[in-house]
Amino acid sequence: MARLIDSGPGCPTPTPLRGASAAEARGLVYDDAVKMETDDLYPLVQDFITPMEWPAIAPLVAAINRLKKEKNAVILAHNYMTPDIFQLVGDFRGDSLQLAREAANVDADIIVQAGVHFMAETSKILAPEKTVLIPDTRAGCSLAASITGADVRLIKEKFPNYPVVTYVNCTAEVKAECHITCTSSNAAQVVEAIAAEWNTDTVILVPDQYLAKNVAAQTGIRVMTWPGACEVHEMFSADDVEQLREAHPGVVILAHPECPPDVLEAADFAGSTSALANYVAEESPNKVVLLTECSMSDNVASANPNVNFIRPCNLCPHMKRITLENIYDCLVTGEYEVLIPEDVRVRAKEALDAMMALPKMVKLLAFKTGLKPLELEMVV
Ligand code: SF4
Repeated sequence: MARLIDSGPGCPTPTPLRGASAAEARGLVYDDAVKMETDDLYPLVQDFITPMEWPAIAPLVAAINRLKKEKNAVILAHNYMTPDIFQLVGDFRGDSLQLAREAANVDADIIVQAGVHFMAETSKILAPEKTVLIPDTRAGCSLAASITGADVRLIKEKFPNYPVVTYVNCTAEVKAECHITCTSSNAAQVVEAIAAEWNTDTVILVPDQYLAKNVAAQTGIRVMTWPGACEVHEMFSADDVEQLREAHPGVVILAHPECPPDVLEAADFAGSTSALANYVAEESPNKVVLLTECSMSDNVASANPNVNFIRPCNLCPHMKRITLENIYDCLVTGEYEVLIPEDVRVRAKEALDAMMALPKMVKLLAFKTGLKPLELEMVV
């Protein structure tokens, strides 16, 4: 069950830098120069950081932004980063694939991934000539950890006639073993395309069982899957949706497709993080709830001040390992560099390229809501 709170910022920015010690320990102080450099930035986070806290945070923000220029570095900030990172130091913001595409195109020597490890790997796969850094190597993912390349090899041995699609939330090693990748934006499109290409009615979609179930309900294609799950999204339930509707009459409920199928059945709209953000911007609902990671609501709320957000508070503990402090430290020390064996990188890129070769969608695909949940056969 998700922890439900009514309104206001979803969660306090969970960096350990409350008080001046984190900046001071790094020799950074709030002087006139820092004040001038950061005064314009404060309004972006004033709902999350109090005026008393700001002098402790601003020196880190100023130092990071200076280091980026000195080292020709950029920061890719995922939608689930806390607002201090997302709003104040992120150069590119979005979902994992948007960020990886930026990694491939950006003119920079260093990429700092403000996200989890598989995202940094995806950046390295697409931008092998650049130095990709992750501020904390422990920033993992329950989905990525649920399956290995060896598991996929066994699946292919067992089901040689079915294509294996992997959600991008997996390691480079897993991507390297799969025929094509997909995102939460294009999963249904990829499954339909690969089924047609292989002339089959059955597709294996790993590692997220809930995404697979939601895709199967959309497409009518027989989907087999793997028992992985996002530990954040699997916490949401149809009961949460019912409670929210009772407590907040008229609320519009948006769900991410990593949520269990009964959540999508009960929601008003479902789609990738980008699709959810677009929905709020385009529809401007009076009252909305995003059933996804907590910081996402904070970041979408900042961009839509006229919308009243109800905020279920499910934090991703892996995303929250990335902080302003360790971003600063990694720019100073050059740690930790993400490296991938070249043969793995090349094969993983083939799976990503297969997805990117599909016709570009004019509008992000939404998942239909209200569909009856399906049970799927597992490949194990
Ligand atoms: S929110 Fe879920 S899918 Fe995303 S990094 Fe965290 S555990 Fe992985």
